[in-house]
Amino acid sequence: MFIWEISVKEVTMLMKDVPSQRMNRFMISLESRLVSLMILLTLLPLSLMADAELLSPPDQLSVGPLLDNPLGYGENLPQFSWQLPVQEKGIRQSAYQIVCAHSVSGLETRLYLWDSGWVDSEQSIFVDYEGPPLASRDLVFWKVRFRSASGVGSEWSEVSRFEMALLEYSDWQASWIFRPTEKPEESSPSPYLRKQFELDKKEVATARIYIASRGMFELEVNGSKIGDDYFQSEWTDYTKRSLYVTYDVTGHILSGANAIGAILGESWYAGKLGYSVQRNQYGEIPELLLQLEVTFEDGSRQIVVSDETWRATTGPITFTNIYDGERYDARLELGAWSTANFDDADWENVTQKALNPSVLLVARPHQPVRITRELRPRSMTEIAPGSFIFDLGQNMVGWARIKVPGVPDHTYTLRFAEMLQKDGTLYTANYRAADSIDTYTCRGDREEKWEPRFSFHGFRYVELSGLLPGVEPDLSWVTGVVLHNDMPETGSFSSSHAMLNQLQSNIQWSQRGNFLALPTDCPQRDERLGWTGDAQVFCATANFNFDTLAFFVKWSADLRDSQRPDGSIPDYVPEFPRGKKTSSSAWGDAAVIVPWEVYQSFGYIRILEDNYEMMCDWVRHYQEHPETKDLIHRGITYGDWLQPYRQEENERRGDTDFGLIGTAYFARCTDLVSRTADILGKNSDAEKYRKLFEDIRRAFQASFFDGAGRQTTEFETQTGYLLALGFDLLPKDRQVPVVAHLKALIVVVADGHLRTGFLGTPLIAPVLSKHGEIALAYDILFRTSYPGWFYSIEQGATTMWERWNSYSREDGFGSAGMNSFNHYAYGAIGEWLYETVAGLSAVEPGYKVIRFSPRPGGPLTYAELYLDTPYGIARSRWERVEDTMRYEIVVPPNTRGEFFIEGEALRVLAPGEYRFSKRKGELLRESME
Ligand code: BGC
Repeated sequence: MFIWEISVKEVTMLMKDVPSQRMNRFMISLESRLVSLMILLTLLPLSLMADAELLSPPDQLSVGPLLDNPLGYGENLPQFSWQLPVQEKGIRQSAYQIVCAHSVSGLETRLYLWDSGWVDSEQSIFVDYEGPPLASRDLVFWKVRFRSASGVGSEWSEVSRFEMALLEYSDWQASWIFRPTEKPEESSPSPYLRKQFELDKKEVATARIYIASRGMFELEVNGSKIGDDYFQSEWTDYTKRSLYVTYDVTGHILSGANAIGAILGESWYAGKLGYSVQRNQYGEIPELLLQLEVTFEDGSRQIVVSDETWRATTGPITFTNIYDGERYDARLELGAWSTANFDDADWENVTQKALNPSVLLVARPHQPVRITRELRPRSMTEIAPGSFIFDLGQNMVGWARIKVPGVPDHTYTLRFAEMLQKDGTLYTANYRAADSIDTYTCRGDREEKWEPRFSFHGFRYVELSGLLPGVEPDLSWVTGVVLHNDMPETGSFSSSHAMLNQLQSNIQWSQRGNFLALPTDCPQRDERLGWTGDAQVFCATANFNFDTLAFFVKWSADLRDSQRPDGSIPDYVPEFPRGKKTSSSAWGDAAVIVPWEVYQSFGYIRILEDNYEMMCDWVRHYQEHPETKDLIHRGITYGDWLQPYRQEENERRGDTDFGLIGTAYFARCTDLVSRTADILGKNSDAEKYRKLFEDIRRAFQASFFDGAGRQTTEFETQTGYLLALGFDLLPKDRQVPVVAHLKALIVVVADGHLRTGFLGTPLIAPVLSKHGEIALAYDILFRTSYPGWFYSIEQGATTMWERWNSYSREDGFGSAGMNSFNHYAYGAIGEWLYETVAGLSAVEPGYKVIRFSPRPGGPLTYAELYLDTPYGIARSRWERVEDTMRYEIVVPPNTRGEFFIEGEALRVLAPGEYRFSKRKGELLRESME
């Protein structure tokens, strides 16, 4: 392997100035010569021969939207992805072979369900399955091998697997069931549902539970909680789609008598929802759908379903909804209620409701919500007798787990807050109508440990009260339990500047807190909605920090479900039945921008295919809107939301002209739809939308800018210029004066500060750096005065805030009417940190070709980004040491890197690790130790 490493370095040195189109041929011939040499040399010591014959196997196998061994996979046309082994330096793929079988032994004995044969292709992500159609419940084992560009084959990968979900409606024999009650005025106690059954006394091969709830469920089988996920089946528009989850319960099923049980929470379905905080948006009582399928070794199957034979009652969860919290009375515990032979004589019968075939039942396509970390309090303060505030040191989303001494019939109360008031008590005004209070009533005969199930809070501080006089808690009594969709963390940015690192941490924490079942605006007040504008501005940043692919696959289906016949998209998605019914520019545009950004980040073309119609319909909505005249759109928008120092009376919607915003987004979406049509091979559409884009562009220029490149709207705003430049709406020759006007607004009018809200903020640094003003971009970023990113950090922020000044030590809290301390929109600066400061961006979707183009600046002496791309880890790091700049680059296998310094293309890089240094204008390749 030593020889091979040297060869890759030499390749790079030799590659200097080789034009990229000739690069491949050059690389292949050089690579094959080097490989022959390597094989020759390794033939000498016989013990090395086996290693030399085959390359290491591919790894990180995944199915569909990068899912790891999914159980209950719902796409009938799977796609396969793998990564080439990093230990094979410089490796690229020239061919692959995938084989699938229904069993591991089938793979071994070559009883293949599908054998792709050797396919000459570099493609190693999202390769279509082309075997015979797959059926519900099919179990598929698969493996893959590849050939390198020089024709050397690899070992077979480890075997990976997936199991199909229930693909047909007719697979379902179960019915929705619920515990009948009067329509509850307030949150009603959580229903407990159970079913006892006898299993044939035969050897069990597999047992699966397919389960959905309209509400949330927690499932138990024979006394054990099943699954490590929470808040299932998450929120969808229940009138159109419900998600179901598949569990492997083989190890929990017993021969003979068994019991299954489920506890339900009201959740988004029946509980308080929306800032109008009305209950029962979708239904009055949570419902359960469950189908247990036990397959015996002899091939026979026994099915147990939710139906009218189930029994129901209520138990210790006396109250729960997502906003207000959960109340648990341990004295009402039901004992071993989900085990066989439990006496449910005093339980009631459930009511059964047939499935409605017009509502889709869809296998959960994304990673579930899980507990992803636990935070220990850093300190504890007694705030009143028997009442202590625990500081977790981090604003987070989830719940608190408590461990308290049992006192018979005694109730402990937990209250939460993101911030403290000056007197050290909780600041809860910004929760608005979300009470966020949990209570726990002890049985009293044990040490009590408890955490809720169906409610979550956004908080840094936990107040535990109800301690008996003289009782001193310790820090272990409270644990912060963090919950969100368990997407793999893929990006990590760091630098020499502590505040910048805190900003990155705040961005990631706000993503954790708000990627819970859907991308929400905020996780703590009586809102927590899928505001589309927030999601579209943050999407590109989000895609760096976590593998959001499957999460956005799920939410893009919600977007499709929400689209109305006129093409409009609600302001938040899912839109609950008694929602606002509005649609706004820069918000509904998520329908185009989110699929587009997800495609760029992951190379998953299906997100474009699946959403193409929705994307076109959103553009049609603009075209046919009564407020669109001569291609200028003046419909509703929330404007440059929360722009600081606005001149207009409306304190929230900013000063940027609504027509300018509406038309800019109309143009942007049309441009992206045209490019999407190109990618999907829809040539006439591509042409049609390209022409429309050009027409809107011209109308935009004529309506909002004069010949000297100045905005002609009532107020000239930074965001007005940023939209025009950021969305490429101006001819090249007008860009220079426009940049000058923008610069004047920043430097002269705003004393070097931003004056942007949700829409301008993501664009300010990228636009300035693209147009020769990167020093100004750094300058704005590193300001600690208001308004700017570091201002909130100076005030103690551990997450992104909704407003630039949600709180200040000097002026206290902003208006509680709308003041979240966990709102990711301004975190959209992340994309610039990663792509420009660290300098790593995708030239081709999914990082098949990566641009390494760091732009050092400000007070930074180094910056670094690791990114786990679909092809493997990429890394860009630069460091300034006296008069020398050092660059470290990792190009993942099967990709190509393009290395730029100060905008100048310097090298095309094969997969591998590189170190360069630049001193006095001279670039040197350094050897790797
Ligand atoms: C949300 C925002 C959202 C906005 C619409 C607010 O209540 O928190 O983030 O985009 O409404 O203007």
